[in-house]
Amino acid sequence: MNPMTMTLDDCRALDRADPLRDLRALFTLPEGVIYLDGNSLGVMPAAAPARIAEVVSQEWGTGLIRSWNTARWIDLPQRLGNKLARLIGAAPDEVMCTDSTSINLYKVLFAAMSQVIDSDDATRRTVVSERSNFPTDLYIAESLCRERGFTLKLVDSVDALPAALTPEVAVLMLTHVNYRTGAMHDMAAVTAAAHAVGALTVWDLAHSAGAVPVTLNESNADFAIGCGYKYLNGGPGAPAFVWVNTRHASRFEQPLSGWFGHAAPFEFTPHYRPAPGVARYLCGTQPIISLSALECGLDTLLAAEPFNADFGPMAALRTKSLALTDAFIAVVEARCPGRFTLVTPRDHARRGSQVCLSMADAAEAQGNAAYAIVQALIARGVIGDFRAGDAQTPHILRFGFTPLYLSFEDVWNSVEHLVQVMEKEEWKRPEFNQKNAVT
Ligand SMILES: *Cc1c(COP(=O)(O)O)cnc(C)c1O
Repeated sequence: MNPMTMTLDDCRALDRADPLRDLRALFTLPEGVIYLDGNSLGVMPAAAPARIAEVVSQEWGTGLIRSWNTARWIDLPQRLGNKLARLIGAAPDEVMCTDSTSINLYKVLFAAMSQVIDSDDATRRTVVSERSNFPTDLYIAESLCRERGFTLKLVDSVDALPAALTPEVAVLMLTHVNYRTGAMHDMAAVTAAAHAVGALTVWDLAHSAGAVPVTLNESNADFAIGCGYKYLNGGPGAPAFVWVNTRHASRFEQPLSGWFGHAAPFEFTPHYRPAPGVARYLCGTQPIISLSALECGLDTLLAAEPFNADFGPMAALRTKSLALTDAFIAVVEARCPGRFTLVTPRDHARRGSQVCLSMADAAEAQGNAAYAIVQALIARGVIGDFRAGDAQTPHILRFGFTPLYLSFEDVWNSVEHLVQVMEKEEWKRPEFNQKNAVT
């Protein structure tokens, strides 16, 4: 089919041929909503309410303290980590689900810096990242660099990365898929370039885990962290995760050396002795109810595994994700010609699982239009989000595509709503031009 002339019937035919179409039943989606924001907060798994109720009323209510053993609460970070490992190219017992992304970043960046400090190469004191990285990553790096006498160097584009990789670089800290643009790095190539100058890599997988195939071990990455409440559908504020390459995992004491990362926490000894491997990256007592909800989310992704047993759950999901984003781009360009500029790369190898648009008109690109259009779409039940630009970068309309529960008909209908919002100039209404606290 010619993408520029795609019709609603074409979208329905794609849905009939979609092997993953029944996975939508694993979720509770509100009536009348097309949810294009799974990159910010994933949809609730249908199994979650009953599972959470069971944890609360039985494991907590009846089991009480005994549940640390009988319900194996103590194993949850590792058990979930082992499920997640299958989505990110990690091996069993290399991943822990725990704490938040920001906190896990603090731990791994500190560990990476320590390795360089321990190597006695005092000329290596630079951390490189991208100016367009997610702010919390830059804030954590800023603070650690200040505290430990490192310099944080920010590049303005991917093209500037090779020149920034000098022998002074200790750590290259990147987010694999950019949260604003959806542009994806080549993890293996970038890691190899960093290693070639003797730098370690820290990858943030917030917009990658559950969204695109990730090959941590194959790419020979050093450290990775990521988010549980986005594409992993773990629920609001879900625990995040941490992965450390086995060659590093037992070499460092991480800075938040709490008792859950101790080799024998229940010996209650006065001195810290780290657990072997990535288990030392745990800090304190774990949020059991939240971890239980995250497990429901992870199970929704593993449900895609049978569809491509050879290459794991992400292979089947990736095929559909690219088809969905291709279709959305094609229908927007065909039905709203000249109104929007595509910010996300067209090249599949460089595209995450989202599509970002900016306003084609220069004045609108810096004005309120992107925000107001997103608000008008939300009022129609099409939930995407808005990400602010600055003097250099335009404001963005961001649409996340989760192949587990979105259909090609959803793609068509969401663009139909966008067409209506634009043609009827709904976005110019005052109620859509007032800023909320969370965008
Ligand atoms: C969403 C996101 C985070 C979130 O960090 P929290 O600690 O969960 O608030 C961090 N980094 C990136 C790149 C993100 O996209």
